[in-house]
Amino acid sequence: MTKVFINGDFLNEKDAKVSYEDRGYVFGDGIYEYIRAYEGKLFTVKEHFERFLRSANEIGLDLGYTVDELIDLVRQLLNENNVKNGGIYIQATRGVAPREHSFPTPPTKPVIMAFTKSYDRPYEQLENGVYGVTTEDIRWLRCDIKSLNLLGNVLAKEYAVKYNATEAIQHRGETVTEGASSNVYAIKDGAIYTHPINNFILNGITRRVIKWIAEDYGIPFKEETFTVDFLKNADEVIISSTSAEVMPVIKVDGDDIGNGKVGDVTRKLQEGFNKYIKSHSI
Ligand SMILES: *Cc1c(COP(=O)(O)O)cnc(C)c1O
Repeated sequence: MTKVFINGDFLNEKDAKVSYEDRGYVFGDGIYEYIRAYEGKLFTVKEHFERFLRSANEIGLDLGYTVDELIDLVRQLLNENNVKNGGIYIQATRGVAPREHSFPTPPTKPVIMAFTKSYDRPYEQLENGVYGVTTEDIRWLRCDIKSLNLLGNVLAKEYAVKYNATEAIQHRGETVTEGASSNVYAIKDGAIYTHPINNFILNGITRRVIKWIAEDYGIPFKEETFTVDFLKNADEVIISSTSAEVMPVIKVDGDDIGNGKVGDVTRKLQEGFNKYIKSHSI
């Protein structure tokens, strides 16, 4: 039976319940992370939990865990569930209290929950690429926080599904920000362009790995805003996330990107990514 972690206990799935007054449930008042396991090891897990603690801090939440304690916790869950290749979802909410918008006084104990899922890498999509559609970014102005409030992202993703695409590429006015659950890159004349790190996008760990790979291979990595038009006229487009890795996008809004095939820079980044899986999993 799969185990679920809730506040210090490894529970059977059917016993893994939280209160109807949990602030994550009523307000989306919490934060989360999604971490990848390859061959039983955790990929870039320190970076994920540093971001988790930052997100917590940005919403005034004290989790009472260090990065190392969180790593031990998910490693234990991974072992309990015998996950070799898959993912770990972990979230923390502000806890259980009568419904009142302001923070509970005295502060409640955060509710921390984690579960695992086994699955393989998306080999077929990594090889052949996926489709994207563009849509207005209607989210709030603190997209740098990996918040449980995902309604904007959910609606964007549903829009993509409606148009038979894998990802919704969001833009504020003409400026491309990011995907519903990924970062977005345009590759033009051998250089990679992606939105700079600020409050309009989530600072992706996979984005960071792509930056490292670009440095390794001497590929210019330009953290500059670009327009929807620039994206559609790029030679190659990719999206990245913990689950999607370095994912080629071969069509946007039904039109081919470049020659409609996965490009050379993308292939180079994928090759580099495979090396980082080996060197950055613990
Ligand atoms: C999690 C997430 C990403 C990707 O971040 P990774 O750390 O690479 O998984 C990008 N955008 C949004 C909105 C996200 O929630």
